[in-house]
Amino acid sequence: MGQPLLDKIKELTPKPVTTIINTHTHFDHVSGNVEFPPTVDVVAHEDTKAGMEKMSPVTALNQSPTPNIFTANKGRGMAKRTFKDRMTIGSGSDQVDLYYFGRGHTSGDA
Ligand SMILES: [Zn+2]
Repeated sequence: MGQPLLDKIKELTPKPVTTIINTHTHFDHVSGNVEFPPTVDVVAHEDTKAGMEKMSPVTALNQSPTPNIFTANKGRGMAKRTFKDRMTIGSGSDQVDLYYFGRGHTSGDA
């Protein structure tokens, strides 16, 4: 879903995407990363990054194992910065505070 997101974003602003925050590791939330420019800063909880490195199938969906999309794309889209308990990115009106409150949907929910 990366390209459809980029297409929609282009309708809203001429500014480039500079940051992606992955809220958890499931394929429908992270796989589109590989379609964004390689310069994009990808931020995630440390467990989400670990999950992206494994990209295990989602058990509840009876998914078959597939090749790791990040390995197949030479690391493109992989989380570049991680946090454990809290991270603040940006400042002023662009400030975003990320929190980890413990295991929820996955072990790395932000
Ligand atoms: Zn999910």
